[in-house]
Amino acid sequence: MSESTVPVVVKGLRHSFNSGVTRPEAWRRSQLLRMRDMLVEREADFEAALHADLGKSPLESQITEIGFLIGEIDHTLANLSKWMRPRRVATPLAVQPATAKIVPEPLGLALIIAPWNYPLMLALSPLIGSIAAGNAAIVKPSEIAPATSAVLALLTPEYLDRRAIAVVEGGVPETTALLAERFDHIFYTGNGRVGRIVARAAAEHLTPITLELGGKSPVYIDETVNLSEAAKRIAWGKFMNVGQTCVAPDYVLGRAEVLAKLAPKLADAIHELYGSAVQRNPDYGRIVSDAQFKRLVNYLGDGEIVVGGSHDAETRFIEPTVLAGVSRDSSVMQDEIFGPILPLVAVESLDDALDYVNAHDKPLAAYVFSNDSQVRARWQSETSSGALSYGVPVMHLTVPDLPFGGVGESGQGAYHGERSFEVFSHMKAVLSKPLQPDTLSATVMPPFTGAKEKIVRKVLGKLR
Ligand code: NAD
Repeated sequence: MSESTVPVVVKGLRHSFNSGVTRPEAWRRSQLLRMRDMLVEREADFEAALHADLGKSPLESQITEIGFLIGEIDHTLANLSKWMRPRRVATPLAVQPATAKIVPEPLGLALIIAPWNYPLMLALSPLIGSIAAGNAAIVKPSEIAPATSAVLALLTPEYLDRRAIAVVEGGVPETTALLAERFDHIFYTGNGRVGRIVARAAAEHLTPITLELGGKSPVYIDETVNLSEAAKRIAWGKFMNVGQTCVAPDYVLGRAEVLAKLAPKLADAIHELYGSAVQRNPDYGRIVSDAQFKRLVNYLGDGEIVVGGSHDAETRFIEPTVLAGVSRDSSVMQDEIFGPILPLVAVESLDDALDYVNAHDKPLAAYVFSNDSQVRARWQSETSSGALSYGVPVMHLTVPDLPFGGVGESGQGAYHGERSFEVFSHMKAVLSKPLQPDTLSATVMPPFTGAKEKIVRKVLGKLR
């Protein structure tokens, strides 16, 4: 499919949506079940593609992509009838007798643009919400994960209803052609620079958008926690998918003496997770591209390497690396790292850490390792981030009832679970009032008599 075919594809899908095929609950359920079948029956194809793109081990692909999606499909199927049901709401006295309800309806045709780091999960997870809400959709996978993109383009039409769901592969020209079209929702996951391009294109058609962006997600740690246990969790969250995770801990803030004790614990944790010969460990993946590899290797000089540091351009391998004594104005502390390099940045105090985080863009997540309830409470009330987790990184995104999304530079809008259904739905207000009794003539309609004034001012106003 090339950029020139984009208008034809859009027209076909819109026609299908307008014909009503995507609206019945039965269609939504059948498509979700077919997607489930695709993930189960073609698991080996997806695992091979994810390995080709990112060196992902089959089990990591299961945990973070395929299994995650199956869990999300099952949760959606279990709750779909409830989510689709109109919700009755109360009516104020001035409107009674009447019934009011919120009726979810599909938006129309959605565009889903996915990035390369979890190239399967981030393409299909929004699609689950779009199907659940009864929309037609185009999925545009990332060209930087070409194997996964190709498998999605091959299998999606085999399993899902091609009248209403299409995969358009490609990079900037194809995405630009897509963005010139009118959609009813655009769901974009990726970086903020392209997020702005998407927002500008959407503004042309007044299309609502969800932007799932990134940023530098901080960890704060103090002496009240068991440092070995905390180090293992931090290392797990940081080095899964070789640090190429939007909610990966980006850097660690702590007092110098805490960080000095944490560094060897991180070394132990990395050893426990990946062994002594990480380069030969099939559980540890690779950097996605040469450009990303070069960018990351430049960061290695920004601090004292206390763990790791080895790298190989040929295979795009970078060892899990911890940098100590990193200064706040070093290059590694400017942009999201998005790779297996963990800077330890000393702060004077909790206040210093809070001030540092608040002086920068609002992160996608913040992770606090402290058993001091005052410290936890201050992070919750004095900082803003897409999510805040105590004691564990990354896992909040596996809780379907927690909204997953950013704030400010880390994004707008949120999804997962019922939120995904709502993102792709319009919540239509429906009011029904019988013509009799004629309560309006006696109250709010002119001519305004003294008796009506009494009712309006004394009764209706107060009883609202
Ligand atoms: P990417 O390079 O794959 O780009 C994302 C998408 O944008 C791709 O489909 C690509 O084709 C498209 N694109 C690129 N340039 C474009 C242009 N000029 N016009 C139109 N479309 C264009 O992925 P990326 O942006 O490098 O992804 C990494 C970023 O995504 C990180 O910042 C990460 O934190 C963020 N991210 C966020 C989440 C989240 O859920 N919030 C998840 C994963 C990644």
